[in-house]
Amino acid sequence: MQKQVITKTLNFSVLGQPVHLLDDYPGWLIAQLHQQLGGHVITLNAEMTMQAEKNATLAEIIKLADLVIPDGSGVVLYLWLKGKKVKRCPGIELAETLLLYAGQLSKPMPVFFFGGAPEVAEKAAKFWQQRCPKLAIAGTQHGYLSPEEEQQLCQTLKEKQPSLIFVGLGVPRQELWIAQHRHLCPKAIWIGVGGSLDIWAGTKTRAPAWFRENHLEWLYRLYQEPWRWRRMLALPLFAWKALLSNFFRK
Ligand code: UDP
Repeated sequence: MQKQVITKTLNFSVLGQPVHLLDDYPGWLIAQLHQQLGGHVITLNAEMTMQAEKNATLAEIIKLADLVIPDGSGVVLYLWLKGKKVKRCPGIELAETLLLYAGQLSKPMPVFFFGGAPEVAEKAAKFWQQRCPKLAIAGTQHGYLSPEEEQQLCQTLKEKQPSLIFVGLGVPRQELWIAQHRHLCPKAIWIGVGGSLDIWAGTKTRAPAWFRENHLEWLYRLYQEPWRWRRMLALPLFAWKALLSNFFRK
């Protein structure tokens, strides 16, 4: 399989944040895994874009990431406004494709689940072990660590060298954590997966297909987690800025 090279023309800006427009995101990452090149994957959505405007560290991490995928509907609609007909690549689906891939290999690519409340990462790992009995699980760790536990986690990662590391600490905590610790496993693919661990563990449910297909996943999340309303004020702000940028382009 030929790996698509990310050139400048495939690197598009969404209100100042880069997004990579590839035909086959899982294929790109699988090639990256086989070449043991490692990488940091950012799942860009409207909320993260607005956070990065105010958080220079997050913006720098997004800029330096190896792959930035159009995870959110807002990002995809923005790209449509700019004449780029791209398909959404939800981070959870990309992670699932990689897990299914790793789960059918004869030479194991061990995976690590980090994040969520106590037992969430363990439950997520159990879910995947049942789904893919051949999947090698390098370990799990909940996301509320004392400094000593965090040190222990770093040691474990160093020793086990997982190939795929899923970090579900929420944005921007997970992006910062990955940027600070990815040197521990330089050959691994690191992905910030937000609440995906909760979904695999069964403690939360993903929006039904109708919501996802109609760009309304955010509405379902708001219904499921009403405390999100304050964070979600970023969405109308993003829409307003997207419309303004389109207006001034004309
Ligand atoms: N979380 C964690 N440690 C923390 C804060 C949050 O492990 O210190 C977990 C939390 O339990 C949840 C996830 O991070 O599983 C955040 O999920 P959310 O859907 O809010 O992520 P986002 O919308 O930011 O991608």
